[in-house]
Amino acid sequence: MSNQSFHPPVRTLMGPGPSDVNPRILQAMARPTIGHLDPVFVTMMEEMKDLLRYAFQTDNTLTMPVSAPGSAGMEMCFVNLLEPGDKAIVCQNGVFGGRMKENVERCGATAVMVEDAWGSAVDPHKVEEALKAHPDAKVLAFVHAETSTGAQSDARTLARLAHEHDCLVIADTVTSLGGSELRVDDWELDAVYSGSQKCLSCTPGLSPVTFSERALEVIKNRKHKVQSWFLDLNLVLGYWGGEGKRSYHHTAPINALYGLHEALVILREEGIEESWARHAKNHQALRAGIEAMGLSFIVKESERLPQLNTVTIPEGVDDARVRARLLEEYSLEIGAGLGALAGKVWRIGLMGFASSRKNVLFCLGALDAVLGDLGAPIQRGVAVETANRVYAG
Ligand SMILES: *Cc1c(COP(=O)(O)O)cnc(C)c1O
Repeated sequence: MSNQSFHPPVRTLMGPGPSDVNPRILQAMARPTIGHLDPVFVTMMEEMKDLLRYAFQTDNTLTMPVSAPGSAGMEMCFVNLLEPGDKAIVCQNGVFGGRMKENVERCGATAVMVEDAWGSAVDPHKVEEALKAHPDAKVLAFVHAETSTGAQSDARTLARLAHEHDCLVIADTVTSLGGSELRVDDWELDAVYSGSQKCLSCTPGLSPVTFSERALEVIKNRKHKVQSWFLDLNLVLGYWGGEGKRSYHHTAPINALYGLHEALVILREEGIEESWARHAKNHQALRAGIEAMGLSFIVKESERLPQLNTVTIPEGVDDARVRARLLEEYSLEIGAGLGALAGKVWRIGLMGFASSRKNVLFCLGALDAVLGDLGAPIQRGVAVETANRVYAG
């Protein structure tokens, strides 16, 4: 048994999350732990709710972080909105739509699937057909930014269609929040969940959520109790809700919340639109470098996520060997393909603090060196220079 403290190496995290954590956030998390009902802590919680409203671009009263990872935010949306016997239309164009289906079924509800190819956005025409064919559907659920493929769907159009057919909207914004345009109120999204460790660059383990008045009305009028005790909004709100007295629900992850607070302050300092623009710019530079090497993207240009770049692995190149060398020689992590895309693509994240010129150039240089050394069929020595030209304008 070891009696040594654990000292992780310093990595550059350019995979699908977690992304590089801003050192300011780690410092914030090392501040003294206080009680979760301490008035000073409660003031911080109120600030955090405002900062989250800014990040989500919403005025929703019910906006808060769930004390668990993005998957718990997902589950909170489904278990509170759906009851046994309900019907939900679920869009699947990657891994996370499949998890939504699991959630619907575990609520005792029926999932009507709208499938699109991995690497494509959700097709609004198919969604409209499904809404027409199932007028009794209560919820339309989709993933705004599919981290497994790098495709972005048109959340505004999907939400408009849902409301035309009297459906509530559940939107997964785990990878979009902070990284690409997301406007919860303008787009009328009803139940929205995200994660702390992607474009907010915080440590993993918290899930910001926001619920519209329309969604709350449905939750208040439920016929059955929510089957999850921990995720039942009516109970959680005794702690996070209201401005007045707070009652014990669970012990909040105090120091993790200091971290999220700091992450949101950093986002506020930069400005949400400036953050979206930075993600777009770094994507353009990475893309120019990747294409100069002769590699290509699987997602078509109009549907590409700037924060998650899915790049085709060149013929004859050993996926695992390349990633292992990047990790060992450069302490650089990029992501592998998931599911149907395993072994076929790399997923290069440019999320939050990791979305920087320094990282773009570092990653291109490392890929150039490792692929060149392995004799991969790439154009050598041009990627970094090409990307730099994008920054030069
Ligand atoms: C990462 C991710 C999740 C799950 O978040 P966890 O924090 O890992 O539970 C859900 N949806 C999408 C689109 C994600 O990228």
